[in-house]
Amino acid sequence: MTFATQNPRIYLSPPHMGDDERQLLLAAFDSNWISTVGPHVDAFEREMADLCSVNYAAGLASGTAALHLSLLLLGVQSGDEVFCSDLTFAATANAITYVGAHPVFIDSNASTWNMDPDLLEEALKDSAARNKLPKAVIVVDLYGQCADYQRIVPICEKYGVPLIEDAAEALGATYRGNAAGTFGVMSVLSFNGNKIITTSGGGMLLSNNKAYVDLAKKLATQAREPVAHYEHTMVGYNYRLSNLLAAVGRGQLRNLADRVNARRATFEEYQKALGNEPGVAFMPEIEGGRSTRWLTCLTVNPSLFGASREQIRLHLETSNIEARAVWKPMHLQPVYKHCRMVGGSVSEYLFEFGLCLPSGSNLTPDDKARVIRAFLSTPRSRS
Ligand SMILES: *Cc1c(COP(=O)(O)O)cnc(C)c1O
Repeated sequence: MTFATQNPRIYLSPPHMGDDERQLLLAAFDSNWISTVGPHVDAFEREMADLCSVNYAAGLASGTAALHLSLLLLGVQSGDEVFCSDLTFAATANAITYVGAHPVFIDSNASTWNMDPDLLEEALKDSAARNKLPKAVIVVDLYGQCADYQRIVPICEKYGVPLIEDAAEALGATYRGNAAGTFGVMSVLSFNGNKIITTSGGGMLLSNNKAYVDLAKKLATQAREPVAHYEHTMVGYNYRLSNLLAAVGRGQLRNLADRVNARRATFEEYQKALGNEPGVAFMPEIEGGRSTRWLTCLTVNPSLFGASREQIRLHLETSNIEARAVWKPMHLQPVYKHCRMVGGSVSEYLFEFGLCLPSGSNLTPDDKARVIRAFLSTPRSRS
């Protein structure tokens, strides 16, 4: 018997497919609507807009494409500044670079792990005094949790700077009664393979502003003018979502509530089993918010626990379990180290001590028990 069959790998956040999406995909295939036009794209956009209570949605090839288009729609240009969460996946910052703008990274606060509203306000005040306000602020909803929009939205409004919500990790979360994806002038979702629902690859741009979403769809189809021949007055992109993938997305969406509940239950199980260990602290949930717990994240103080997050990660690996460090902050990335940074100590702390545990909605009770056992059996040195 091989190692793999005895001890199958537990992944961080694998796709979770069901019969609904299989049936819808096969029906889409049989209908011959194979490409980026078709009834499933329209229906997926409508269903997603309804779920999030926004008026309009554009299905796109990726969350990164949605971020890129959102900046183009706001007219962000070469040399402009865009404020951006420091603790995020590189896609958020990369989109700013695509339009030639300069990201300015804003640190997290310890109570949400998301953008610190105090630092944002300070940075905007400073920019206003220098007469160089950013063209946009991109706020990330980290690991399934909405940022502190009760404070962030009025701060952005006060300075007249549009807010883009990067909700790629947070579909299904709520904050003070509103869904993730509703807090920006535009919001971005991702259906990448590791996200809470997946289309294999895909994304969406959400907005209550019809003009933004109409223009996003046009830019995403090579900016074709609505005439019989091929006519172009702008540079466009090939960014539309395939009808086949939209069919998968519709099937996934039907089960979103179950997926969220499964991930939240996993978080609670881990917290119950590991939360009383010395030096272990779980990612807090924002007051008034309901996180999806896309990934269960925690920090480990090595002098209290007796092992570092990296030692735990490597020990889990010996049991064929995939765990990951929390995102490495953008200001520490070689490609972005020249960029302006506001704060930085919180995101550095979260990267140094933070660990993400396997959190897929298809984890079995045995899988979770294995993760907990492996975590607790990490060799520790006690002082
Ligand atoms: C996954 C992710 C993206 C990018 O989405 P893709 O669909 O993979 O392009 C953007 N921002 C954040 C915060 C993400 O986690």
